[in-house]
Amino acid sequence: MNNKIIRFQVSKPLLSGREKEYATDAIETGWISSSGKYIELFESAISKFLQIEHGIAVSNGTTALHLSCLAMGLKPGMDVIVPALTYVASANAVKYCGANPIFADVDPYTWTVTPQLLEKAWTPNTVGVIPVHLFGLPAPMIEINELCESRRAWCVEDCAESFGAKINDRTTGSFADASAFSFFGNKIISTGEGGMVFIKDHEKRALAKLLKGQGMDLDSDRRYWHSIVGYNYRMTNVAAAIGLGQVEMAAFHLSERRRIAKRYLQNLSGLQEKGLIQLPIEPPGYQNVYWLFSLVLKSTNKKSRQKISQVLLNNFGIETRPFFVPMHHLPMYKGEFNLPNADFLGDNGMNLPTYSGLTDHDVDEISDILERVITKESRL
Ligand SMILES: *Cc1c(COP(=O)(O)O)cnc(C)c1O
Repeated sequence: MNNKIIRFQVSKPLLSGREKEYATDAIETGWISSSGKYIELFESAISKFLQIEHGIAVSNGTTALHLSCLAMGLKPGMDVIVPALTYVASANAVKYCGANPIFADVDPYTWTVTPQLLEKAWTPNTVGVIPVHLFGLPAPMIEINELCESRRAWCVEDCAESFGAKINDRTTGSFADASAFSFFGNKIISTGEGGMVFIKDHEKRALAKLLKGQGMDLDSDRRYWHSIVGYNYRMTNVAAAIGLGQVEMAAFHLSERRRIAKRYLQNLSGLQEKGLIQLPIEPPGYQNVYWLFSLVLKSTNKKSRQKISQVLLNNFGIETRPFFVPMHHLPMYKGEFNLPNADFLGDNGMNLPTYSGLTDHDVDEISDILERVITKESRL
């Protein structure tokens, strides 16, 4: 452990609503496990906020993705296309089903997959795709849906980072056959650990519910009647109580992120004009929720990102995070993939402190220091 003082973390939750009151109620009434009123209250509050029907609360975002894949009927030997630049859970969910994740490159400016890149990755065994709304910007879902329809493939949206993001006033998670959300501690709203899955088709949704609760048939008169091999992917009532407090404040958390992003964009535009960095974009009609405000170093050498991050942390107490290592470089997913955009972004991207409560003054200070450190490193 190092004991450097971190002044600005990349991320931290803010529990400023009624989270404590609801969680205390769950504890005082003894409903701490996976029965209790907060599960349904949380499910319906999320569904209402996102305008997507029938959310199913689960233990985390990874299990939400796994249940989505199982509900789509994913089986061993099948292929599913996943962007190379994502968090590992998007690929693992496919692997849990015995199927193969096939990696697609991402767009150099939006950092998400496009229909063209998905088509390029398509294999004869491809049955589905999992677009990821990376760092909060929606992937082009309307066009991706068209591609999936024409190829008779299913689509599961990975919305772990895009809670509340929109395309033409429709929220991410409402476009595809199914979608998965995460409420991990660093996500836009959090339940500690938690997730939610949305599935359009009624029968597939019923299957996901069955799988979530050990395959126990709730309509059967016989207790302990398990009709299939299921999982324990349930959320606790305590987590849902915290989540209800969070979702009541969701509009605030989203506006905080937009405020912070707008200020970073203004402050750092000079560095972009000099060609030293690339900033996130928001195509017309798209609403980026800036889960983590990010930038890509353009004019530095390969070692620079690490050096810059170390200087920011050691000298100024500013924490940053590198972009994810692209999936095709991880030992279990290594393969013959030529994905230059994901490679470049994976080497040069960094996430900056982005959380509710980070003040304009904080963002200005972080931006000033970043500007100095990046300019200096780029001259070397
Ligand atoms: C966080 C995240 C997940 C997984 O969520 P957990 O709740 O941590 O299991 C999946 N996909 C992406 C893109 C994520 O960022």
